[in-house]
Amino acid sequence: MAAGVASASRRTHIVPWPIFLWTTGVLWHTYETLSDRQRNPVPDDSLPGFSTGQGVLRQVRNETLALHAGFDMDPATRAIAVPIYQTVAYGFENAEHGAALFNLEVDGYRYSRIGNPTNAVLERRVAAMEGAEEALAVSSGQAAIYYAVSNLAEPGRNLVTVPQLYGTTHSMFAHFLPGIGINVRFAVSDDPTDVEQIIDDDTRAVYCESVGNPAGNIADISRLADVAHRHGIPLIVDNTVATPMLCRPISFGADIVVHSLTKFMGGHGTTLGGIIIDSGRFPWASHPGRFPMFCEPDQSYHGLTYSKHFGPNAFIARCRSVYLRTTGAALSPFNAFMLLQGVETLAVRVDRHVENARRVAGFLHDDPRVDWTNYVGFSDHPYFHLVERYLGGRASSLLTFGVKGGYDGGVQFYNALKLVKRVVNLGDSKSLACHPASTTHRQMTPEEQRKAGVAPETIRLSIGIEHVDDIIEDLDQALDAATTRKCAKEYQ
Ligand code: PLP
Repeated sequence: MAAGVASASRRTHIVPWPIFLWTTGVLWHTYETLSDRQRNPVPDDSLPGFSTGQGVLRQVRNETLALHAGFDMDPATRAIAVPIYQTVAYGFENAEHGAALFNLEVDGYRYSRIGNPTNAVLERRVAAMEGAEEALAVSSGQAAIYYAVSNLAEPGRNLVTVPQLYGTTHSMFAHFLPGIGINVRFAVSDDPTDVEQIIDDDTRAVYCESVGNPAGNIADISRLADVAHRHGIPLIVDNTVATPMLCRPISFGADIVVHSLTKFMGGHGTTLGGIIIDSGRFPWASHPGRFPMFCEPDQSYHGLTYSKHFGPNAFIARCRSVYLRTTGAALSPFNAFMLLQGVETLAVRVDRHVENARRVAGFLHDDPRVDWTNYVGFSDHPYFHLVERYLGGRASSLLTFGVKGGYDGGVQFYNALKLVKRVVNLGDSKSLACHPASTTHRQMTPEEQRKAGVAPETIRLSIGIEHVDDIIEDLDQALDAATTRKCAKEYQ
């Protein structure tokens, strides 16, 4: 017996290397799978249970919410797919019913510019995925941003933003909003200390992108939320690039989240859309001097006071009743349906986007024809600790790099692409490339471009879900065309 034990223990010391390596690999894979599950955010347990229409579940995860939240089945037909309610108007039972709807005294629909049942499913679904109760879907990401910021900043007030923004958001903030009396102050960096320095008594919100487009910087959401809250103002986060599959800003203290649904959420490059999501946590009523629009009677709505009437839903209710109703950037129900189709598969697409981008980044990083690669997923990247904190260690598929040869090298590379599309879009299932200096950021001065993280040679890639080797082969031949040097290296 003792000899048997001895020989068994001796055997454990002579496990051949291949078996040892195989076992280590299996263990590592298991760890990765488990930790991936842990990383995928489990909704807040404080939220109510999740109803499937067939019963109430404990809270479910984002992958499941993306398929089920906000819709069980059509009450009229028991259809399982979300019906497209392609209608402009809704019948009133009688004059009193119509009046009650217009007075916002009862729930229901009046006119599709203000609300539509298909859009409402999208609103409930994305709100659930962001860990919130209320959302408002609109016709584009820009409309969502404009409505969200003008809902809380009156002329004469200001917003404070990090400098790394999507080009058109930058244009809105630097030029359009000041033209209507809302000033926007740009911090010198996205460091929360720099952001805090430019907040004053007239500041009404702090703004950032969770993953900056195209800079790729990761916002330190918790610290930015602390800064904003210290000054009695909300933090607004554009979560377009990260999507709630990688980051849920509300769980880190953000108050309002906006999205361009046009990108990864829709995911197929077919449909414009935007959404505003409110955590319902910002205490508007505690700051009546700063936010009178929520705390004083609104004469356009029979003297209704949003914070009293709608409580935690005041922000979205006012966005809908004031901005969507009067300026009309409504999402069509057909587009809401298309976006819902995209949202259903978001989780699996994001997994593939993330993994493909990791491989492409490795290829570019090692390539002598490439001057620099900005991919926050590299463990030595200055933002990597924020990737770990806010994105569960999974960098998005947005990355930038510079071809050797400056502006001309960038243009030659761009013109030589065959598979990767030359577009200004991102977040399509297809791989996309953009040359920001000549397109999205063209309106900026060189100094503004630099602050936004854009160099003359910068190429922004949005890595799609094609076979990764095909993407790399296309980049390889375009680099060749740009630099006329062949790199035969294999990248795994
Ligand atoms: N926010 C970000 C981060 C974006 O990248 C974009 C567009 O690229 C937008 C907002 C604007 O979205 P839309 O094109 O849907 O108006």
